[in-house]
Amino acid sequence: MSPLDKTVLVVEDNDINMKLLHDVLEVHGYNVLQAKDGMEGWRIAREHRPDLILMDIQLPSISGLEATKRLKADETLKSIPVIAITAFAMAGDKEKFLEGGCDAYIPKPISLPNFLQTVERFANRIVSEEKPRQSGVKTIQVRWAH
Ligand code: MN
Repeated sequence: MSPLDKTVLVVEDNDINMKLLHDVLEVHGYNVLQAKDGMEGWRIAREHRPDLILMDIQLPSISGLEATKRLKADETLKSIPVIAITAFAMAGDKEKFLEGGCDAYIPKPISLPNFLQTVERFANRIVSEEKPRQSGVKTIQVRWAH
């Protein structure tokens, strides 16, 4: 499937990281939405229903993990895959992110081939026909095998 019709929401507070992620995704054919914090990310996710969310974990106000929990608690948003991106990769972090509802985890610094492969894999896990058109419509739950 071509990534051309896929939209990725990037939640990242660092301008340089944001530009890098934006440019890489755009050059590979994705539509990119940007949010600087978790609340803005949540608002944009509700408004645009992206195919995938890339979530920086170190964010101002609510953390990326908290923002992810909020997204996953929302019936209309929980089927959107969330990939956590973090510089603080410590023992137990991966488990913490996955338990918090993140579908995958990418440590910084980002390895480009792995990054693009992971984005492609997850961006294609929801087909547009299965997006909820109104609240109350059942969404297809995709659980990622850890
Ligand atoms: Mn950050």
